[in-house]
Amino acid sequence: GTQPPVIATGRRFGSYELLDQIGSGASSYVFRCKALSSGEIYAAKIIDLRSLRLRHDVKRERTKLRREVAILRRMHHTCVVNLIEVIETENELFLVMELVRCGELFYRIVERKALTEDEAKYVFRQVLEAVKYMHSQGVIHRDLKPENILIAEILDGSYYRIKVADFGLAKLVQSGYSAAKTFVGTPQYWAPEVIEAANTGSAYGPAADLWSLGVLLYVMLGGTYPFDTRRGPVEKQIREGDYHFRYAAFQKVSRMALDLIRGLMTEMHPAPMQPYSSILAGTSMDAEGDHADHT
Ligand code: ADP
Ligand code: MG
Repeated sequence: GTQPPVIATGRRFGSYELLDQIGSGASSYVFRCKALSSGEIYAAKIIDLRSLRLRHDVKRERTKLRREVAILRRMHHTCVVNLIEVIETENELFLVMELVRCGELFYRIVERKALTEDEAKYVFRQVLEAVKYMHSQGVIHRDLKPENILIAEILDGSYYRIKVADFGLAKLVQSGYSAAKTFVGTPQYWAPEVIEAANTGSAYGPAADLWSLGVLLYVMLGGTYPFDTRRGPVEKQIREGDYHFRYAAFQKVSRMALDLIRGLMTEMHPAPMQPYSSILAGTSMDAEGDHADHT
């Protein structure tokens, strides 16, 4: 950007005070903040409306922001980041959220190379619960990836309690219909129907999130992306389902987990709204190997 960020530590907004920065995205900064009345610490996602203005598409951006806020307001789940309050000043929008303290799942995967199957299962089950909930509320997340899965707590050294964040690309679909048509998200996590939608304007639905969940599980267990940018366009590999489990990390992974990834990274038209119980049943995630005792 050409303009300096307007945000600064110590600044007040509403009844909060800004502390240090903890994250950033394409058009946002995330800071810790303190409620002046209680001293309680929260996270504030700050969207600089001036930088949006510079992009000459203020109206579209405003609509997107309103959508993010409207969707976040509807979400009430232990595995979804909780929105506390929205404060709008002339130049910024502040989304005050619960603070998720232990950073992005992304960094843990990078640091650990890959998760063990037990650890991945523990995370995956929570993400699945969150996505099941969103879909039951008619919300497609459309940007599920380890950067947007935040760690609230670490149990026994490596079992992560998580919260799904970043509803910046989420979309509300009317029940039964899959009306999302925009080309959004991160290429590695795109479903084939998302790519198809970009080329033909076709619709895609909640199943696109399930594909991304397959990629997420692949990345957690394999410690690498399923599609190799050095081998040509990722979009082509996705359309052809061109991925494999030959990386070393997959040697220790159970056939059941690989089958689950295969099942999720499968093109699904029309979008099923309730495949979750069968996913859970198929992986014995409800049975042994469950770390519910950590809670
Ligand atoms: P963007 O839409 O710009 O990607 P996100 O909502 O993903 O914005 O936030 C950017 C980053 O800020 C996240 O990846 C995460 O590291 C951090 N972050 C976001 N929300 C929170 C929160 N509630 N608690 C702690 N960190 C957060
Ligand atoms: Mg993000």
